Amino acid sequence: MPFLKLIVGNWKMNGLTADSRDRAIKIASSIKENKTYPFHIILCPPTTMLSLVAEELKGSSIGLGGQNCHNQPSGAFTGEISAEMLKDVGCTHVIIGHSERRQQNRETSASVATKAKAAHLAGLVTIICVGELDGERTSGQADEVVTGQLKDSIPTTTTPENTVIAYEPVWAIGTGKTASNDDIRHIHALIRKEVGKLPILYGGSVKASNAGEILHLPNVDGVLVGGASLKAEEFMEIAEASGR
Ligand code: PEP
Repeated sequence: MPFLKLIVGNWKMNGLTADSRDRAIKIASSIKENKTYPFHIILCPPTTMLSLVAEELKGSSIGLGGQNCHNQPSGAFTGEISAEMLKDVGCTHVIIGHSERRQQNRETSASVATKAKAAHLAGLVTIICVGELDGERTSGQADEVVTGQLKDSIPTTTTPENTVIAYEPVWAIGTGKTASNDDIRHIHALIRKEVGKLPILYGGSVKASNAGEILHLPNVDGVLVGGASLKAEEFMEIAEASGR
């Protein structure tokens, strides 16, 4: 089977019952049975919407992902969600180490690795995020930052089947700025050298108008989409761009 581009929608902290259901139905109904597509979609709604979205995706090939998990399977961790719980509610994937969590929740690469290991043990595919800050890029440290994050964030349980890397330059997330094709080529080649066969996604202001170009760059195995994943039609246009 040829490799399918992975198109991951990160809804972040957006979604109440009505709009989440509507978006999931629109996306699921645009995938026809008995038709083959050059992409595989994963939707990552907020935790409170996972059951509802799982219900709407039943019988479709679309995967479901959490946006974070704890490193323990259960216990006295008020407010946390374990990888086992995500698996139990129907998740196939989990995003770990998103830059918003690294910055706002002070997650380190070491804690990302323990979470990823827990997710692997629970049978989830991890989407491990790495990426440099604007200041790190302008001071010429992007390569070093990304390489360091990869080394420290990837646990020993990692295989090409259970791990995807998402390169998300922090300055490009939600800003409307996208890394240049040359930058994406350069960093993805660097990541490829570090991670071998693991699929590598690009994330950072991906939209319908730039997805085609980005998805066809070397070593880009898919995209992680934030803002544009909240509009079902645009998100599907991004996915369809894999085949153009
Ligand atoms: C993200 O949330 O991972 C992301 C890339 O967001 P955006 O597409 O809005 O930049």
